[in-house]
Amino acid sequence: MSKYWSALVSELKPYVPGEQPKMANLVKLNTNENPFGPSPKVIAAIKSELNDGLRLYPDPEGQALKEAIADYHVDFGIAPSQVFVGNGSDEVLAHVFQGLLKHDKPILFPDITYSFYPVYCGLYQIESCVMPLNDRFEIDPADYRRPNGGIIFPNPNAPTGRYLGLGHVEDILQANPDSVVVVDEAYVDFGGETAIRLVNQYPNLLVCQTLSKARSLAGLRVGFAVGNEELIEALSRVKDSFNSYPLDRLALAGAVAAFEDKQWFEDSVNGVIREREKLTAELEKRGFEVLPSKANFVFARHPEHAGEDVAALLREQGIIVRHFNKPRISDFLRITVGTADQNKALIKGLGKLS
Ligand code: PMP
Repeated sequence: MSKYWSALVSELKPYVPGEQPKMANLVKLNTNENPFGPSPKVIAAIKSELNDGLRLYPDPEGQALKEAIADYHVDFGIAPSQVFVGNGSDEVLAHVFQGLLKHDKPILFPDITYSFYPVYCGLYQIESCVMPLNDRFEIDPADYRRPNGGIIFPNPNAPTGRYLGLGHVEDILQANPDSVVVVDEAYVDFGGETAIRLVNQYPNLLVCQTLSKARSLAGLRVGFAVGNEELIEALSRVKDSFNSYPLDRLALAGAVAAFEDKQWFEDSVNGVIREREKLTAELEKRGFEVLPSKANFVFARHPEHAGEDVAALLREQGIIVRHFNKPRISDFLRITVGTADQNKALIKGLGKLS
């Protein structure tokens, strides 16, 4: 403990991000990046912005991006004033925890979920109450009917990949008209249906998404939230009290182009889904239990081999997957869906299991 730290800092248990190893030739299937890469139109937009952009401050509101996101969701009647943009959805979520979730009652989230939520609770001194997933590793909406200061869950959930149908999301919204319900849709594009379609029906709904996964822009750091104007106004107040320029000019230019290139997005998502189904079948052939996934990763365990040992065996062969040493899921591995070649390398690597 340092004499320079506050008591709060001493108590923090920071988020531990997945490893980002530098070695070439690794088959990196541990942090759910999209192997197909961003649209060439995104690269072109960023290059063009480089020509004269860097001298100037970016638009603090990111208005062009809000308009692009609203246009993209035109079928759901979303206006730019219903969109908030930030430096990755992690930052958007930080603002949600700072400003939207109430601090006088516990907030609710699943026990097995995105591990940044408890970290933000520690940082912003928010009490939480975790709801166990059922025996199929699903969220049970009935658990979210108790007094709370807000509710948050990923859909699909991470690291399980399990998706909760919108009817069940509506059950949670209807049971909690006085709480904000945040649906973290980092992985929704890989087969789920977005709750953005419900935003104009439920003023207590905030939907967060990211460009890191389906749009393959994890390095650019762009995330956004869609909700009613009052929720967006709250997030903007928090943002302007924190960093008035969350998105730089390159990120704004690239993100706008990403929303404009719908074809690239669809091809990329379909490629991931196709590979996910092949990977699931191959893992099952080798005796793994694989949870049904609507994400760009699968969550799998082998009845005879500990998750930690399988991860170590793969690592010896230059293949990196994610193992969580946590109760109830320590047998499992979370494996990002890679290219056909990466997935073949993984399956070949598993051949060494005795
Ligand atoms: N939510 C969930 C459920 C995630 O798994 C991630 C990625 N680690 C994020 C949010 C954050 O994504 P990003 O900050 O890259 O937008």
